[in-house]
Amino acid sequence: MASTLSFTTFYNIIDGKPRSSKVLSHGYNPATRERLWDVPVATSQDIEDTVKAAKRAFKTWSKVPLSERAALLKKYQDALEPLLGELGELVLKEIGKPRQFAHHEACLKLEDKLVQGEDREYRLRYMPLGVVAAISPWNYPLGQAAMKFLPGLMAGNTVIVKPSPFAPYATLKLVEIGQQFLPPGVLQVLNGDDALGPALVNHPDIAKITFAGSCATGKKIAEAAARTMKRVTLELGGNDAAIVCPDVDVKAVAPQVVMGAFFNTGQVCTGTKRIYIHKDIYASMLSEMGKAAQQLKVGDGSENGTIIGPVQNEMQYGKVKDLFEDTKKNGYKTVNGGIGAPTNGFYFEPTIVDSPPENARVVIEEQFGPIVPSMPWTDEAELIERVNDSNMGLGASIWSNDVDRATRIAEQLDVGSVHINSFEKVSIKIPFGGHKESGIGVECGPNALESFCNLQVLHYYGDKPAEVH
Ligand code: NAD
Repeated sequence: MASTLSFTTFYNIIDGKPRSSKVLSHGYNPATRERLWDVPVATSQDIEDTVKAAKRAFKTWSKVPLSERAALLKKYQDALEPLLGELGELVLKEIGKPRQFAHHEACLKLEDKLVQGEDREYRLRYMPLGVVAAISPWNYPLGQAAMKFLPGLMAGNTVIVKPSPFAPYATLKLVEIGQQFLPPGVLQVLNGDDALGPALVNHPDIAKITFAGSCATGKKIAEAAARTMKRVTLELGGNDAAIVCPDVDVKAVAPQVVMGAFFNTGQVCTGTKRIYIHKDIYASMLSEMGKAAQQLKVGDGSENGTIIGPVQNEMQYGKVKDLFEDTKKNGYKTVNGGIGAPTNGFYFEPTIVDSPPENARVVIEEQFGPIVPSMPWTDEAELIERVNDSNMGLGASIWSNDVDRATRIAEQLDVGSVHINSFEKVSIKIPFGGHKESGIGVECGPNALESFCNLQVLHYYGDKPAEVH
């Protein structure tokens, strides 16, 4: 497999076959601004062919027993093991940072259940929806695609994957590899221009959109999906707070808070985007965080010891620089940071903004880059008000040696996940979803498959079948 597979030529995968296009595009290596390989831009005919193939494949794939689907996906997963180095290399080139492929459990369970009711027995059946489009962002090309298509396929749907045009390479290759294990049309991938996402969302033969990306795009998708009553799972942006209580070991906690903010160059949906430190330890925490941030080596992801790679693309780099300019213009103090040494790459030093007002742009907006505000707090009730005063509600982290206090604070936060004494770490095995404008629905965990199904209920008032199939 590894010997016949090329990691320098890329195709859309339609009905089990690679297909190029008359129109091509390409990404850039954000560390060097080097132009990367050509990728096809799907035409409207490609989109139609893909949806037709997915619909056709659904008829048989949806009838394959769950255990067989799981076995095929497990084989696919095992075949990826020896290729992770090459796939990681693609991720390094296209987003600037090596990424381990996030392994997904192929042993999820979704069993029909017979339930005893008051006057009847009823059977809950989980029926796959049909064709699913999985639309993903650029920050975790492999993980984001896999955490959508694996449960989608397991549940019996066929899936069309659409990577971000900023980072299409690893995803195109991942789906190409899958063709050895899955029937044609079951798992397909299309790279495209700005018209592709809307074309999928508006397509009448697509039953569900599973999406991760910005709040703005998520709202457009929700609006368009309503027209055909598509199911949607929307995993959107965040403005997650790290709350530091006065009882922590400052030296131990500061580097971890810094990592929570700057990991993957701050380009993580659940990255810390606001830091709230109790006033009694504010000065010492800020000083320790500054030291920790300074120790993070900024540079090309292919160089040993690099922790902070470049920002992934020029547009995002522009946004980060603009936020930095805004902090300077308003006279906010910063610890470390700013635009990296002049090179071709989109480098930005990890920057902490010291005590900006609550209405500063760097506090309100999702930075999605290595710049984060830090602010003192005194009163717990007021702190909770400030943290909840956001239209986003993805996650938060709380640092305290008093677990009751941390739990009391956590329970009052209007967010989907709260991590106590760690920065946020998404696990494929644990449910994950946002409150407020951070999204609709839940990914990952034991119930992930349900979101790819319609529930059907069979009511039995007399005899019932001996076995549930
Ligand atoms: P984005 O919304 O710009 O793009 C995401 C995807 O949507 C891309 O594939 C893009 O081509 C596609 N798209 C754009 N417009 C579309 C439309 N009208 N219809 C359909 N598809 C369309 O997001 P991005 O810049 O790639 O990613 C960064 C954002 O993603 C951040 O806000 C981050 O917080 C969020 N994110 C959220 C999660 C999560 O699980 N909550 C995970 C990763 C990233």
